[in-house]
Amino acid sequence: MTRPPLPVDFDRAPFLVIWETTRACALACVHCRADAMPRRDPRELTTAEAFALVDQLQGFAPQRPLLVLTGGDPMRRPDLAQIVRHAHEAGLLVALTPSGTAAATRARLEEFRDAGLSRIAVSLDGPEPDMHDAFRRVRGSYAWTMRIIESAIALGLPLQINTTISRMTLPSLEAMAEAVGKFPLSLWAVFFLVQTGRGAGLDQVNAEECERVLHYLYDLSLTVPFGIKTTEAPQYQRVVRQREEARIQAGLPTHEVERRRQLRAPRSVNDGNGFVFVDHVGNICPSGFLPVPCGNVRTASLVDVYRTSDLFVRLRDTDELYGKCRRCRFRAVCGGSRSRAFAASGAITASDPLCVYTPGPGIEPLVDPVAGQAPPRSGLAAVPLAAP
Ligand code: SF4
Repeated sequence: MTRPPLPVDFDRAPFLVIWETTRACALACVHCRADAMPRRDPRELTTAEAFALVDQLQGFAPQRPLLVLTGGDPMRRPDLAQIVRHAHEAGLLVALTPSGTAAATRARLEEFRDAGLSRIAVSLDGPEPDMHDAFRRVRGSYAWTMRIIESAIALGLPLQINTTISRMTLPSLEAMAEAVGKFPLSLWAVFFLVQTGRGAGLDQVNAEECERVLHYLYDLSLTVPFGIKTTEAPQYQRVVRQREEARIQAGLPTHEVERRRQLRAPRSVNDGNGFVFVDHVGNICPSGFLPVPCGNVRTASLVDVYRTSDLFVRLRDTDELYGKCRRCRFRAVCGGSRSRAFAASGAITASDPLCVYTPGPGIEPLVDPVAGQAPPRSGLAAVPLAAP
């Protein structure tokens, strides 16, 4: 799946397009944003509409977003291989997030690989079956997940593991890191719970715990061969810069810092800012955790909505932030989780309550602490696909 870094101007094109192919799913995960249901919704996009959605992505040229087929459980769509093939033939990289169920057989995964699938991403939320199955609320999900992982490895499909951080899973973080480290991973994507959908009833970590996790992930990133990415915790970009600044001030060799900078995105992919979500009936939203429709792919251009709709434009403008995110010197590379701000306060541009950073009373200048120069607010930025 690795390809050379792409120039990505987040005002012009997202880095990730997430399409919720269906809400049908056999699992009943405690954190599910989608409130997934047992049956497919008859209003879902048809195969022809799915092809049209893929074709719309050509409008972002010359940039090409990564298309992620998610759910629910995308395996519930019988036309999935056709969609993968259509997207692959359109020149897109396509990732798939099957649920940990019996539906993701090796034969079907092989069919997707042959159709041009670029990556498989599976959720693993506990190092042992009991913890994972309790989170997914279906006994046996851990075993099915392991089977998907084994199949992906056997088929040579690049593998990503997604893990949710909540009060429930926090105690097993280190054991999880050890567990995922046993696989030939491309990426460990660590998702910080947003209290929306079924996740509204689940406890999230507090800001201090979040900070400890982010520092732990930074330390881990120095030792593991795979990429580490956070979802809905863009303050990881702040932690990385603070840690690198400290390393440089301590006189540690800078070539390693520079090498790691080149492997990593120079800024976060954030809700509506490098990221766009299309739900199962075609609504275009800044994120699945920020379910505010700004149009529908059946009647509107995804490209136009992403580039010009009022909400998307505001989400890419750091001058729209308020509270401490507005004053923070890291706001251009972080900006805080807009979804969490919305879930916590109802205000999309409020501060992210899971951040411990306290800027001064005035607006801090936007200075990259490592490079010593202003980072791009939304200009060209090289984003490696393998370790965003
Ligand atoms: S204060 Fe806001 S912008 Fe600054 S690091 Fe924290 S979450 Fe990010």
